[in-house]
Amino acid sequence: MSDYLVRATALEGKLRAFACITTETVREITDRHGTLALASAALGRTLTMGSMMGVTLKGRETITLKISGDGPLGQITVTADSSGHVRGFVQNPHVELPPKDGIVFGDVEKLDVGAGVGQGFLYVIKDLGLKEPFVGSVPLYSGEIGEDFLLYFAQSEQIPSAVGLGVLMEKDQTVKAAGGFLIQLLPGVSDEDINYIEEQIKQFPHITSLLVQGLTPEDILRRLIPGEVDIKERIDIGHRCDCSRERFERGLLSLGPTEISSIIEEDKHAELVCHFCNEKYQFDEEQLKTLHEQSLQR
Ligand SMILES: [Zn+2]
Repeated sequence: MSDYLVRATALEGKLRAFACITTETVREITDRHGTLALASAALGRTLTMGSMMGVTLKGRETITLKISGDGPLGQITVTADSSGHVRGFVQNPHVELPPKDGIVFGDVEKLDVGAGVGQGFLYVIKDLGLKEPFVGSVPLYSGEIGEDFLLYFAQSEQIPSAVGLGVLMEKDQTVKAAGGFLIQLLPGVSDEDINYIEEQIKQFPHITSLLVQGLTPEDILRRLIPGEVDIKERIDIGHRCDCSRERFERGLLSLGPTEISSIIEEDKHAELVCHFCNEKYQFDEEQLKTLHEQSLQR
């Protein structure tokens, strides 16, 4: 099943919901960065939330999520757009910690994402094409990502929500399954319906175990939400970074002729790396000399 997300409503529009499978996307992005299991889980959960928050935007709007904790993983950064594209990275991709509470599920250890993230803040930055971006932030609740977003929605957006985010890792550090759901209650939902959803969530199996069994995002929403679920939209999810060789050329040019000629003298080449996607751009001596010429004419 390739990655996609569904956006749905229920309870006469008083509930909106998202669910997605992000296995391939998380696999590609964690492969690009060579993350070990703990970083893959933390980054994958944030990417999954990013994809769901991204599709609430319009047109060219973008959203950036920053999990800024004092734990060994360092900062996690994810950006997403309104068309299902996500990208992201984690500052320290090779951190390993003992499993949480020594818990092992089958042959899968429970990764201690909370300890990896530590204490700090969650930032949500929405670039809506206005002069200033919208920035919301809350202190991290547990560093487990899902709970931190729950607090964000409650405090910063005043929307009672239910969140499930999961990344299941294989023993060989590859991603077996990833996905998530987000249910948001708008004003007017009855206590009975709220109780029903709370009960469902309490007994709900971990989302990745359902994805491994072959359940679709649509199936997952139908199991969580009372009554008819109206699927409004299905959007493909995938990795995309907007970096390019031209962008890095402009970056080199902006250093000015003196700096460029010192790179030529000292290294005879330059390798520039995109933080977001880990793509490497090589510039050899000839190419640097051409850029040097151009920088002199500026
Ligand atoms: Zn890139």
